[in-house]
Amino acid sequence: MRVEKTDDITWVARNNLCYGCGLCDIICPREAISFHITNMGRLKPAIDYTKCNGCSLCLKVCPGMDDGNLILDALAGIEDPFTGSTLSCHVGMASSEEVYINAQSGGLVTQTLRYLFDTEQITHAVLVYMQYGKPPRPIASVVTSPEQLFDTQKSTYVPVNLLSALKTIPATNSSIAVVGLPCHMEGILSLDNLGKAAHRVNYKLGLMCDGILTYIALNYFEKRANVPSHIPYRIVFKDKARFNYLDANITIQQSDGRQRHINKEERFILKKYLTPPRCLICFNKMNLFADLSYGDPWHLGTSIPSHGLGVVISRTSRGYQLVVDLERKRYAHLNSISYTDFLTGQEIEKRKRRVAKGIRDYEDLDLHLPTYYATLLRDHLNNYRPSRHHSNYVAKFLQTEEARVDRIVDHIFSKVKRTLFLGAMKGKVKSSLRSIASLPP
Ligand SMILES: Cc1cc2nc3c(=O)[nH]c(=O)nc-3n(C[C@H](O)[C@H](O)[C@H](O)COP(=O)(O)OP(=O)(O)OC[C@H]3O[C@@H](n4cnc5c(N)ncnc54)[C@H](O)[C@@H]3O)c2cc1C
Ligand code: SF4
Ligand code: SF4
Ligand code: SF4
Repeated sequence: MRVEKTDDITWVARNNLCYGCGLCDIICPREAISFHITNMGRLKPAIDYTKCNGCSLCLKVCPGMDDGNLILDALAGIEDPFTGSTLSCHVGMASSEEVYINAQSGGLVTQTLRYLFDTEQITHAVLVYMQYGKPPRPIASVVTSPEQLFDTQKSTYVPVNLLSALKTIPATNSSIAVVGLPCHMEGILSLDNLGKAAHRVNYKLGLMCDGILTYIALNYFEKRANVPSHIPYRIVFKDKARFNYLDANITIQQSDGRQRHINKEERFILKKYLTPPRCLICFNKMNLFADLSYGDPWHLGTSIPSHGLGVVISRTSRGYQLVVDLERKRYAHLNSISYTDFLTGQEIEKRKRRVAKGIRDYEDLDLHLPTYYATLLRDHLNNYRPSRHHSNYVAKFLQTEEARVDRIVDHIFSKVKRTLFLGAMKGKVKSSLRSIASLPP
């Protein structure tokens, strides 16, 4: 049955449209909003009604629902919202060896921040830091000097209510850069629209995003690697400093210095069970609303060194100028490439199929969708619609979410084990067939 409309973001959450950007948390005049973690490990906003004054501001600004059509308006004039438009596209790496080796891809995000700090164009940067914990939790972190950037490098593939951290930055005499996923940038788009001087973001450095995993993935890794019960740990989701960039496995760093490793294959299998529903209907993989979008140079045909390369795309004139400066002032080594060539490695067609399927899942459950989907469906997804008879991922996810956390972890554990077993058997059969085929008749 349709979820009845309320005047606040509980309506967004009940329609599974919240992606946990944190915007409502910073704009609520009564500090009534907080986040909790559901059994399936996603972020969900909650309102303390003893504080709430019923102003509805949280709902009006929420980009997850886009009740005010802000994203719909921002998409006007963009030919394809799944790819966006660009002023420049470069592949390259940080000129600092230390930043490059410690980075997720080419270290271009961190070098951009270093440049902005060195030239005093920013006083604060908002980004993500993975703390040690049991299980560990990444947090939105505010840094005020380039020396603090090293510890925040690499990609974190679980939810972070990033924009909440803006609350801690003084409203005057600060100039801010935010590094964030496309949904975080959609939050900033909405924040900009409010026109408030406080929390004004000066530079939007966007990461491309194919989706995250819920926090249950962290419980899974802990169990899988047999981390001793008394030892806190943290996760490096793609450890290219230890493994080859193209083959980077997961590293678990224990607080006692010991490291454990899990094959990257398992992270991909987890996506089948632990992708938050909201990611399935997110069109914005390429981070359209950032000044710069950063990603990986998959299938570009360029030879990639073992520590990888990064791609940076400028979407605004401010972003374009930054790329020029990074190259001129030798913060990065960059080569211009074609955006069309870059897009082939990003599997945009696959993303369109995923969104079309996610939309059908939502529709079948009678959940609301953001208003821009009427246009997206008509113009870009009509050829990708699955049949009504496909299995509904969102329904299964919501059903599993009702179980206890330990049961969910056990359930996911057995699912992954089974997939790995079947994969190994398939490999054995294939290699036997190959050896039979190579025998002389
Ligand atoms: C969830 C996720 C999915 C991604 N999917 C793709 C993809 O499909 N295709 C693609 O080409 N690239 C993708 N990327 C981007 C890619 O992994 C790199 O982040 C990007 O190339 C920048 O690398 P770098 O070496 O320049 O960054 P680094 O120098 O290592 O710096 C990374 C910066 O990102 C910040 N950060 C890390 N995780 C998060 C997060 N969850 N939210 C906000 N900030 C964060 C860190 O704090 C740090 O400031 C994804 C990244 C993430 C986090
Ligand atoms: S503003 Fe962001 S965090 Fe708040 S409900 Fe909307 S999507 Fe969720
Ligand atoms: S309705 Fe107003 S006061 Fe209540 S949670 Fe939303 S923004 Fe805060
Ligand atoms: S896929 Fe979209 S909603 Fe999901 S984390 Fe990435 S940007 Fe956010």
